[in-house]
Amino acid sequence: EINFDKASFKDFENIAGKDANEAAYLFFQYMRYKQSKGQMNYRLLSTSHSGPTMEMDLPDNPHKTFISLVANDYLNFSQHPLVKKAAIEAIENYGVGAGASPAIGGHFWYHEALEKAISGFFYRKSAITYTTGYTANSAALQAIMKKDDLAILDSAVHASVIEGCLQTNMKTFPHNNLQALERILSVTKDKYRSRWVVIDGVYSQDGDLAPLDEIVKLVKTYGAYLILDDAHGTGVIGATGRGVIELDALYQEVDIITGTFSKTFGHIGGYVVASEEMTHFLKYQSRQHIFSSTATPASACILKSIQLIDEEPIWMQKLQKNILHLKTGLLSLGLDIGTTASAIIPVKIGDMNLNAEICNLLLQEGIYTNQINYPAVSQKNSRIRMSVMATHQPEHLDKVLNVWEWIIKKKELKQRLR
Ligand code: PMP
Repeated sequence: EINFDKASFKDFENIAGKDANEAAYLFFQYMRYKQSKGQMNYRLLSTSHSGPTMEMDLPDNPHKTFISLVANDYLNFSQHPLVKKAAIEAIENYGVGAGASPAIGGHFWYHEALEKAISGFFYRKSAITYTTGYTANSAALQAIMKKDDLAILDSAVHASVIEGCLQTNMKTFPHNNLQALERILSVTKDKYRSRWVVIDGVYSQDGDLAPLDEIVKLVKTYGAYLILDDAHGTGVIGATGRGVIELDALYQEVDIITGTFSKTFGHIGGYVVASEEMTHFLKYQSRQHIFSSTATPASACILKSIQLIDEEPIWMQKLQKNILHLKTGLLSLGLDIGTTASAIIPVKIGDMNLNAEICNLLLQEGIYTNQINYPAVSQKNSRIRMSVMATHQPEHLDKVLNVWEWIIKKKELKQRLR
């Protein structure tokens, strides 16, 4: 018997004694129950574009336009006129599809140009692109690490990293805990063919940064390799938006950099930046690259986004100003936003149902945020996650802060979160 008040999505993945059809039936009941309690804030239907405000089609909600704090489109390049123009031109000239997988006819000039642009962006020589950031991680890791290797993962890495490591040996260290990482590195020396430490630059649920400089030192000391996924740091962190790697100019010290074109670059796609030999290996050895069609001509617009990060620094400046505005406001309201140092700002709630209730109250007041629950984070780490964009106006952020102030009083949050 599943207690719907305590259950999470994960409980329906593999229910003892039930097959997938029965599990689907139960999950359907669960979601209905959540909906009836006003706790179903996932897959909400938007009828507009990605931006600081979004139009939504929600039953029983008086608002049509919501302030959006859910997009990873941090610089809002998905709407930048020059990026859109580049996509339109590419579609007019080259159509809407690539027609094949890269090995057998689907490799075009814009794929090659993107590989060059993204590796150059990180001052490196070589890259391979994939259709999403998720695929870039899972494909590369699956191709690189086999059963004799060891993956050493920060406990907060993205799901795509974990998927990439399922067939290799895997150990995790508590989030950003350097002593624990060093312990694993020291006791596993000479026990595996190779060892790969995998970390994020900016962590997607806390918005905090990896201590990259210290991790690079540890990895080198113990003869391992380092993979950095900076999906959320690129275009946000560092004076010129190269991400966490820019803070100590460690461009040549990280073996493999992975990332996505779906966040700061405003489109979709993923990349792996590595040595020429390694990207060559992946082009012929990663199954997701060989057996799957490539990005469409519209992805030529990413070339423009990459340029704009350098040509129009105003967007990064606006983003930083907005981050400061929202962070300062939330802190002065006494909310716990953890150790964020990026555009991702969590408000820690710690109870799944209260989290859903607050997300719903925000929505009722015209503010769209994400409720993050297990399995994305542990149950006691449930939080409301907000992502700031360069195009939010001060009025948007002031309204968000006013609504939080109202919720704090209404739900007596200060007493409950103590
Ligand atoms: N890595 C991290 C850290 C992410 O947060 C995400 C997306 N949420 C991805 C990779 C996957 O990127 P994409 O959305 O392009 O598949």
